[in-house]
Amino acid sequence: MNTLEVMLNEALAYQAEAFKRDEPVDGADLVEWFAEWRERVQTILADSPVTSTDADDAQPRTMPLCSACGGENVCADAAARWDAEAKVWEVVNIFDKGHSCDDCESSDVRLDWREEEKRAGFL
Ligand SMILES: [Zn+2]
Repeated sequence: MNTLEVMLNEALAYQAEAFKRDEPVDGADLVEWFAEWRERVQTILADSPVTSTDADDAQPRTMPLCSACGGENVCADAAARWDAEAKVWEVVNIFDKGHSCDDCESSDVRLDWREEEKRAGFL
């Protein structure tokens, strides 16, 4: 359990019985408790952005490499759909073949995937 989950459990546990039984909860107490709680959550979020808390559960990060030369500057053959709202091309499918590599200038290479070492500072 990460720190944020601990904090959420703490929030759920606060006056849990009273909330469960629909009993009155003292508003002043609740506000005072919440003010203190949110400050601690803010501190935790400032230390580690929410996006990094999922990193432990995430799949190992991989990157495509040219199967001919091992280069990283590869270009995938893909299908893109125009997103009229965002005004950008959105990649909807990466084809199985037809990729190219800028490093060795091959035009029909396979992409091999390798695990990328975890970046420093990444939780
Ligand atoms: Zn290559």
